[in-house]
Amino acid sequence: MPNCELCGKETQLMTAIVEGTKLNVCQNCGKYGKVLATPRIAKKVETPAATQPSETIVENYAKLIREAREKQGLTQEEFAKNLNEKESIIHKLENGTYTPPITLARKLEKMLKITLVETEVELTTTSEKRKTGTLTIGDLIQLKK
Ligand SMILES: [Zn+2]
Repeated sequence: MPNCELCGKETQLMTAIVEGTKLNVCQNCGKYGKVLATPRIAKKVETPAATQPSETIVENYAKLIREAREKQGLTQEEFAKNLNEKESIIHKLENGTYTPPITLARKLEKMLKITLVETEVELTTTSEKRKTGTLTIGDLIQLKK
């Protein structure tokens, strides 16, 4: 085991600048100087934001529901019964005044074999936000060129 050049302790040594002098010192003595041998491990700050997929109902749900129901030869009343929903709900769905909640949309999808729910994944990460946050006026001018 090598000896610490400051306190003489036999231990694992590291190189440190202590008061302008490069010395092989122990961990304890290294505290008093600028440690060179152990590179600082850069902490990873760029953690991607939680990519929570958000579910949304397609815009033309009313048309899709009506067309699919008619294809199955069902009246709004029959369809409502099959779905275990009120006829007024079907009415509102088909004239676009009632956007179905995801659970109902899923039920409609299964029944009518259509797609009503779109899954969107948020791709924005915190690192991207950080980048735009550090843009200066000068950077923006550069980008415009
Ligand atoms: Zn020491």
